[in-house]
Amino acid sequence: MARQQLQQQRQAAAQRLRRCRPAAQSGVSVEAPPSTPVVPRGGRGPASDSSAPLSVSKVLFSDITLPLYDPQEQRTFDLVVVGSGPSGLAVADRVAAAGFQVLIVDPNPRAPWINNFGVWIDEFAAMGLEDCLDYTWDKALVHLDSSAEGARYLSRPYGRVDRPKLKRRLLERCIASGVMFHQAKAQDVKHGGGRSEVQCDGGVGVSGSLVVDATGHSRKLVEFDKAFNPGYQGAYGITVMCAEPHPFDVATMLFMDWRDDHLDAHPDVKERNARLPTFLYAMPFSSTKVFLEETSLVARPIIPFPELKLRLEKRMQHLGIKAVTVEDEEFCAIPMGGCLPVRPQRVIGVGGTAGMVHPSTGYMVSRVIGAAPLIADAIIDQLSAVSDKATDAHLARAPRSEAEADAMAAAVWRAMWPVQRLRQREFFEFGMEVLLKLDLAETREFFAAFFSLSDYHWHGFLSSRLSFLNLIGFGLSLFARSSNAARLNLLQKGLPGLLVMLSRLATLK
Ligand SMILES: Cc1cc2nc3c(=O)[nH]c(=O)nc-3n(C[C@H](O)[C@H](O)[C@H](O)COP(=O)(O)OP(=O)(O)OC[C@H]3O[C@@H](n4cnc5c(N)ncnc54)[C@H](O)[C@@H]3O)c2cc1C
Repeated sequence: MARQQLQQQRQAAAQRLRRCRPAAQSGVSVEAPPSTPVVPRGGRGPASDSSAPLSVSKVLFSDITLPLYDPQEQRTFDLVVVGSGPSGLAVADRVAAAGFQVLIVDPNPRAPWINNFGVWIDEFAAMGLEDCLDYTWDKALVHLDSSAEGARYLSRPYGRVDRPKLKRRLLERCIASGVMFHQAKAQDVKHGGGRSEVQCDGGVGVSGSLVVDATGHSRKLVEFDKAFNPGYQGAYGITVMCAEPHPFDVATMLFMDWRDDHLDAHPDVKERNARLPTFLYAMPFSSTKVFLEETSLVARPIIPFPELKLRLEKRMQHLGIKAVTVEDEEFCAIPMGGCLPVRPQRVIGVGGTAGMVHPSTGYMVSRVIGAAPLIADAIIDQLSAVSDKATDAHLARAPRSEAEADAMAAAVWRAMWPVQRLRQREFFEFGMEVLLKLDLAETREFFAAFFSLSDYHWHGFLSSRLSFLNLIGFGLSLFARSSNAARLNLLQKGLPGLLVMLSRLATLK
């Protein structure tokens, strides 16, 4: 491409980026889990007539024509992104919008996203995506226990992501930016001569100067050098149409319901719940339609789905919710915490692949989209740096040796994981290890203190916005607001993890 043309393309892209640049959500949190055990990932089940299981072959957006890459061309792209989830699409779009040649590899880029994503509206608004929510609630509610004092209203608006709309938005942006698609599953990657070749189904290889692994919890291409031992957020959810109005206020999202009186008649289940607690998460869409999810915040090993389903059924009976139809069924198993991929390495990991899930909450979608600009800009910097050195506009983008390509990838990893982010992640891991040890009574005490914190602290913690120093302040405030018994308990249960965190912090660079 002629330099002038490239220049124009970059200027147009820069204007577009200014319009949609997300708010200051920097860095990436990366973690990665290996062999997720027997757990199915999100899906729609056989609960009702119309809910035939979704397969990856299901296609949304039949009106969208993907620009497909013909492997016969044997091009080398500037960037190959493997995976077209939120993180892959967001990174690919931004790099392509800056004028680089980007290829996405995914077996079905138009497949629907099947999980219900809930987000804080302020996070989505900061990224200019508030129109990609299909339901919103002005406030959220937490029930710590069955007492009236146990009800806490959170004045932070919440929303459900309109998945088809968000996916369409990200896909259309990619297409407008010039991203090409190759519909296949990536199997492996090989590096040589300053290029990386992603091996796909059907014996096709696609080449790029840099490769991003955005395969979610499949973690297909990034490498790990340690055994992975994450916690798991497990949840069983259904969207139900009820015969009669359900008991929830349609203006309020039920963020956490830790009440357990629905298990009074089932002492064995109640006892299990007292040891390994789960809570109800509910999104009331109308007076008769609601998404209900029995959720284990984090457990190791994961609480099995039949147990979650049983607990949800008991809740529904207790609340008098009679489902006429079940519109969909969700099985959620999100690995949380655990080791990060090897840093640096040639393949760049983003999103679920690379531990961007909040290790203490399971939240991710705002974070992966919010972090995309930082990652993309680091990639753009590297691709541009090579081009600055060269005389030929096309050759310019290709690293000319393995050492150069390794150094480019390493620079992107460094930008994603500055030491402040690593410290933050250590703190989140520490938080997760504490949560893993709490029974129901202790969990209630913990959240009583948590939701009495300032908005700055609890909003910031849930949105991964607090720096390490702020997190220390957060921890001290939490401690100060806890009862004496809870403090003692936190000290007993948190001390080993605290020591681990301190020793790891000492070696961070
Ligand atoms: C049930 C469930 C509920 C959730 N709820 C929430 C929530 O309420 N709020 C929230 O913030 N987050 C939630 N999450 C997390 C949410 O899924 C992530 O935010 C998001 O999907 C991660 O994005 P990603 O792009 O990293 O990976 P994914 O969305 O998992 O995308 C990975 C992509 O890679 C592709 N892929 C996989 N393997 C290959 C391969 N070998 N070759 C090529 N392509 C491949 C897949 O087809 C897919 O398109 C939930 C997750 C689950 C499972």
